[in-house]
Amino acid sequence: MPPDRQLTFEALPKSVVGVLSTIADAGHEVALVGGCVRDRLLGLEHKGDWDAATSAHPEDVAALFTGATWENRFGTVTVGRDPAVEVTSYRVEGGYRDQRRPDDVRFGVSLADDLARRDFTVNAMAWLPTDLAVGQGIVLDPFGGEADLAGRLLKTVGGPRERFGEDALRLIRAARFAGRFEMTIDPQTEAAIIELAPTVETVSPERIRGELFRILQLDPRPSRAFSALERLGLLKVILPELVALRGIPQSKAVAGDALDHTLAAVDAATVEARLAALLHDVGKATTLGGGHFIDHEKVGADLASTVLARLRVPGSLAARTLGAVRHHMYAYDDSWTDAAVRRFIRRTADVDRALLFALRRADNAASGAGPHGDDNQGQLEARIARELERQPDLLLHRRLAIDGHDLQRELGMSAGPEIGAVLDRLTEAVLEDPALNEASTLLELARQR
Ligand code: ATP
Ligand code: MG
Repeated sequence: MPPDRQLTFEALPKSVVGVLSTIADAGHEVALVGGCVRDRLLGLEHKGDWDAATSAHPEDVAALFTGATWENRFGTVTVGRDPAVEVTSYRVEGGYRDQRRPDDVRFGVSLADDLARRDFTVNAMAWLPTDLAVGQGIVLDPFGGEADLAGRLLKTVGGPRERFGEDALRLIRAARFAGRFEMTIDPQTEAAIIELAPTVETVSPERIRGELFRILQLDPRPSRAFSALERLGLLKVILPELVALRGIPQSKAVAGDALDHTLAAVDAATVEARLAALLHDVGKATTLGGGHFIDHEKVGADLASTVLARLRVPGSLAARTLGAVRHHMYAYDDSWTDAAVRRFIRRTADVDRALLFALRRADNAASGAGPHGDDNQGQLEARIARELERQPDLLLHRRLAIDGHDLQRELGMSAGPEIGAVLDRLTEAVLEDPALNEASTLLELARQR
């Protein structure tokens, strides 16, 4: 076992220091564990939540912080803000009959025992503060995680078949860490992953989504983790819709098939647009005909909708993502008239346009569109902003100067679909020429039908 050694944690976030000192001042042992320790040793800024482990029982931790509650039977207590700290009590887990949940969780064990239940050596290190005021502490590294980090080697703590057998989510986590930190997977660990890949099916969709979202949100280049998922046989279990893009030819300025393009788009996307980028072309697997992917954005939106539902992605995020997928195939160029820009605004009135445009910029970049693509997109966005400013009533509030009641009263029309048709026609006319949006003019136009 490597000797414990001193390590200074410079610039610990205030909220983290606050949480650690509150627990330590109450007489409990508390340490930082998991990703924040790993990232500190890699010299990376830690994104996301911080993880701490303590000798205190969950109810004693919760009692130290107002409003804190236990989250699950593992006793995770989330406290502090920006960043939040997830505090878990030292524990061991016994028996995993169903490959995802321990049958039995036991608290009141040592930090060393707690580190032994963790998934990979690089995640099984702790930093035990000795003087929080100056960020001084010691690293506990019973499984040689620091050496593996230096050698970029991903290895389970203990026998891989047993550890993956306990919790199949670890298979996906392996791809996540191997991708993000460009690690080689230890041969035994890798063989076990490939062998046990089908067992990922037993993991709850929520937990799978959690890992996928962490890849999309925390990894500066998610394509690496997705490639690892594919190579290890995991992608076909969790996202077969993506695997179906492998081998689908693309005729783009850059080489590669539709899956290569998809992953390049994810890498090029802002964090907000990555989920949309991941799903934006899933329709291409079944729509290739005559050198084109006919209606792939519509087919793709339907398919993406089943993926998002399967992963239990919350409704509003799912809806915004689908809107972007559904509308990403517009072909703007500077020959568009102002009326065409207004029609585009109307067509995308219910779409999160910021997301749509972020997706399109990523798609352009991944298609090798170069600076011209960005200029073109920038021009469309500028023209939309100008139209919205000029015609806010019409475009933002979708208000025609008259409505169906006016048609009934002034023209004697009776309620029914015909009124809708007339209003649609008037809307078209107003999009063409906004000056027509006045009650008398519109009624006159309606009379001429
Ligand atoms: P990130 O920085 O991306 O959050 P992380 O390593 O902190 O990476 P978390 O999911 O936050 O990942 O988990 C915190 C720690 O808890 C891990 O480092 C690991 O020690 C342990 N852990 C998490 N999930 C598992 C699991 N399924 N099996 C075993 N240990 C786990
Ligand atoms: Mg973490």
